Amino acid sequence: ASSQPSDIEIARAARKRPITEIAAKLSIPEDAVLPYGRDKAKIDRDFLAGLGAPKGKLVLVTAVTPTPAGEGKTTTTVGLGDGLAQLGHRVAICLREASLGPCFGMKGGAAGGGHAQVVPMEEMNLHFTGDFHAITSAHNLLSAMIDNHIHWGNALDIDVRRVTWRRVMDMNDRALRDVATGLGGPGNGFPRQTGFDITVASEIMAILCLATDLEDLQERLGRIIIGYTRDKTPVTARELKADGAMVVLLREAMQPNLVQTLENTPAFVHGGPFANIAHGCNSVAATRAALQLADIVVTEAGFGADLGAEKFFDIKCRKAGLSPDVAVLVATVRSLKMSGGVARTDLGTEDAEAVTRGCANLTRHLGNLRGFGLPVVVAINRFDGDTEAELAALRDHVEALGAEVHLCTHWADGGAGAQALAARVAELAASDEVNFTPLYPDDMGLFEKIETVARRIYGAEGVDADAKIRNQLAEWEAAGFGDLPVCMAKTQYSFSADPSLRGAPEGFRVPLREVRLSAGAGFVVAICGEIMTMPGLPRHPAAESIGLNAEGEVVGLF
Ligand code: ADP
Ligand code: MG
Repeated sequence: ASSQPSDIEIARAARKRPITEIAAKLSIPEDAVLPYGRDKAKIDRDFLAGLGAPKGKLVLVTAVTPTPAGEGKTTTTVGLGDGLAQLGHRVAICLREASLGPCFGMKGGAAGGGHAQVVPMEEMNLHFTGDFHAITSAHNLLSAMIDNHIHWGNALDIDVRRVTWRRVMDMNDRALRDVATGLGGPGNGFPRQTGFDITVASEIMAILCLATDLEDLQERLGRIIIGYTRDKTPVTARELKADGAMVVLLREAMQPNLVQTLENTPAFVHGGPFANIAHGCNSVAATRAALQLADIVVTEAGFGADLGAEKFFDIKCRKAGLSPDVAVLVATVRSLKMSGGVARTDLGTEDAEAVTRGCANLTRHLGNLRGFGLPVVVAINRFDGDTEAELAALRDHVEALGAEVHLCTHWADGGAGAQALAARVAELAASDEVNFTPLYPDDMGLFEKIETVARRIYGAEGVDADAKIRNQLAEWEAAGFGDLPVCMAKTQYSFSADPSLRGAPEGFRVPLREVRLSAGAGFVVAICGEIMTMPGLPRHPAAESIGLNAEGEVVGLF
């Protein structure tokens, strides 16, 4: 219960500046701004290519183990960015684009919340600049070319039972998870079983987010493994001659999008890979551009720090040669209460002791982040219902760990509510206290990499995998994929693979159920638990209450 207007009401009242003016804050000349309407733009790739090496400081916003509602990483990223701007820093924010699936399902927006939002939020949450449509098209072009190749004689000897490349759509639609295609007779090709994933789960999404330029993009697209021949040899998109047409479809989408916060701070919003079967952060292209243009860049990685931060460091930063400078660990009273054993429905009841118990979760995340060699600051994202006793319990715990903690009210107050955090983050970024080290070296074995993440980050005793999975990993090592990082796919609700084990569980083992090679993206996905790549809609989807009002404005979206 809050007296604050809704996110969409706040967003609609924003005093937006023309996008060229936002670009000018980062010294982007007008002819490098490619407007999509009045307040969205892509930034010209040739301009960015001419800028030289990234020089800005990189700040990662991550979080403790979340509740299902989210703990405010995006909101804090925006609030911290605005706080830094208020202090006079030349700052840029980097966020992910939103998927339509959750928009019409239940999750809420991806543009932050309260007085810490990116605008125009309706557009950002809907079609935006069309990047996801381009990715969907490129993905399905490859799907069409696979079935077409088989139809016209199958010169590559693709085994129709071993085609792993599916189709995608940017919608939650459980009815499409498993489908049969090619029914209806010889004119329609060869029948086979396949299915749809949501666009954000497409390997092309991950590729677009990790590619450094168009050349690298095409290289990676060509490396995609679409399935196997009868003797189990991988077949690639390059062998199907699909990489050229796909890169054409993705050419515009590869350029980063620029928008602004409610306080007119520049924000790059580009790419949005799933945080389970992919790495869950915005594009390397946007982060590099931001680091070339701003002195300090604030970005976010999906889920809690066990998943999001680990993959940000070990996949994105390692592969793109980015060096993060500071980590901000977002904590909320309600998430720690949940970690402390309180039921989701009782989170509104004061319980300072549960906060203290739940802080074991924060302790493990904090230790993990320090292990990557970064200075860490804890940011408490304050909610209206938090009591003084609960906030004191949280603060005392963090201080007892010898760590810094700042109470932030950006959701209610905008950048002004995150100024103390901003001042300290800027100081730490400038201090060069960082000694960034990824968790494992490239040349470690694939299974050992998975075990290292499980033991050192999750606190597991080990990883269980049957011989089939271990042999698969060994085969990939022999085929030259051994130096890839691993992309862990596990529940975000626990350090373990069991969502009911809250807090800082010990004595558990992680079951490795399946491994997948994303040869184009450049990682091996380690699936530890049930992973949904095509979500469904809830009984009453948000879509039921979305519509236009008499003024033609969108209502019911958030
Ligand atoms: P995350 O990025 O961690 O998933 P978000 O920043 O998207 O989380 O926030 C999740 C939801 O919680 C959003 O709807 C946002 O408006 C809301 N929210 C975030 N911080 C607060 C706060 N301090 N008070 C009330 N609601 C908040
Ligand atoms: Mg977020």
